[in-house]
Amino acid sequence: MKTSQFFISTLKEAPQDAELKSHQLMVRAGYVKRLSSGLYTWMPIGLRVLRKIESIIREEMNASGAVELLMPAIQPAELWQETGRWQQFGPQMLKINDRHQNEFCFGPTHEEVITDIARKELNSYKQLPINFYQIQTKFRDEIRPRFGVMRAREFLMKDAYSFHANENCLQKMYELMFETYNRIFSRIGLQFRSVAADSGAIGGDASHEFHVLADSGEDVIAYSDQSEYAANIEKASTVFKKASKENKVPTEKVHTPEITTIEALQEFFKIDTKSILKAVVFNHDDELVICFVPGNREINLVKLEKVIGSNRFRVAKDDELKKHGLIPGFIGPEGNEHIRKLFDHSIIEMENMVCGANEEHYHFTNFQSINTEKFVDITNVVEGDVSPDESGKLKFCRGIEVGHIFQLGKKYSESMQASILNEEGKSQTMTMGCYGIGVSRIVAAAIEQNNDENGMILPKSIAPFELIIVPIGYHKNDKVRAQANKIYADLLKSGIDVILDDRVARPGIMFAESDLIGIPNRLVIGEKSLNENKVEFKSRSESNSEMINISDLIHFIKSKI
Ligand code: ATP
Ligand code: MG
Repeated sequence: MKTSQFFISTLKEAPQDAELKSHQLMVRAGYVKRLSSGLYTWMPIGLRVLRKIESIIREEMNASGAVELLMPAIQPAELWQETGRWQQFGPQMLKINDRHQNEFCFGPTHEEVITDIARKELNSYKQLPINFYQIQTKFRDEIRPRFGVMRAREFLMKDAYSFHANENCLQKMYELMFETYNRIFSRIGLQFRSVAADSGAIGGDASHEFHVLADSGEDVIAYSDQSEYAANIEKASTVFKKASKENKVPTEKVHTPEITTIEALQEFFKIDTKSILKAVVFNHDDELVICFVPGNREINLVKLEKVIGSNRFRVAKDDELKKHGLIPGFIGPEGNEHIRKLFDHSIIEMENMVCGANEEHYHFTNFQSINTEKFVDITNVVEGDVSPDESGKLKFCRGIEVGHIFQLGKKYSESMQASILNEEGKSQTMTMGCYGIGVSRIVAAAIEQNNDENGMILPKSIAPFELIIVPIGYHKNDKVRAQANKIYADLLKSGIDVILDDRVARPGIMFAESDLIGIPNRLVIGEKSLNENKVEFKSRSESNSEMINISDLIHFIKSKI
């Protein structure tokens, strides 16, 4: 490729709204152009990176035995009605009507479409297992599209769906995909970590996410400082030791006028927030649910959804509390038997706690006994909690989710009646797995992890070009031009993905641009060094350059790439 035949359009300044380094650099380097909120055009230079990531994914998926297909981006409502997700998926789904007023959506994911294929095309256990995948555009009407292609509305995903005759077979495929993902992200050159995850709206049993580690990541990962344990905060758990009750002090009712918040109680009683029992009330389908948690812990809505068994809940309003006989600011664990109560498992280690007395302007101190049959896990872990394998303490780091694998079980195959005849000739529902990768998000994540003040430093496996040739005086000096063209042709012939910068531009500008767009290796061809039969080589990640004999050049470049 020669720059004169290609299209590069860089910018000096990043747009004002670009908070993340990757977003700023992708716009400045002309990788993407924004069309509208969460919608981006992949410009030729950015598309090369996207395509390289795609081919690594494709190669590894094929090597794992998965087979590629391509499903429509637009999907009919009827399929989604069969699984109940037409209603359930919520506002992230973009619904559209055709000219006959038939309802469709722009696919946010493809479980329904693939299960429809499976129930029509698979009928015998002999066809199993099979793992179908595609690399396809998805649309999700994200509440806050941001960070460029990192959280876009339209984005590219690799999604795979496997079908099995039994759980055991699914388990094996899951492990194979786990290994395949490790290979994919290693080949791309990312620093990443796999973590246990919640299976969310996709549903199912076991699930892992793959995160690119970056301080700017939207996800918090809890990991043990001593064991292999790591989980998304949505899922991370811990274990608690029962309070010793050795220091038991008699319970007292104390007048606490207008003291209604955790901060005010902390101040009033001069105690740590972890000794105060916090009550948070939710309205679920017009019924109240009181959640009791220690004052230092936050409720985890993903865990709460699991315990409640539905996502149709919100924090209750004060007038709703009063209507049910609750006194905002003074709600305690005793009484109110007509209302559902959930007690977080962290409460078992509390002793001598402060809690509401269910009486206006009164709290109990040194309250001891919570009357419940079972504790539930509805809070986020905090740093310093014991790892659930009881080996080490939890620490936090941040990550960007680039992959997610699930064991779906029969969630879709049951509701859509996808079955096969088993070995005994009996009809049997298939077991499923699904495996996603955020292809376009990886571009941003890789840049987030690999940049400096001059621009991107992309891993060579995904850089738009492996090498750039910058001739000094290409249009003025015949010798330079002849040598640059020859070296360029030789490198191309040796299979190097090289670009020759043949524009009429100052060398400083060419250097700055090649640094910005993340080309990992640079050859400078100038008259002076040519007179000594040498050219200058510089790696993007090193500060010094070296002079290479032209006769050794191809060999040398190959060893570098
Ligand atoms: P997130 O928690 O980031 O919203 P998700 O759990 O909704 O992601 P999945 O349904 O697991 O995502 O989709 C598979 C992959 O698609 C994700 O791991 C992520 O890399 C990518 N992805 C999801 N949403 C977006 C988006 N809005 N923009 C770009 N990539 C996305
Ligand atoms: Mg996910």
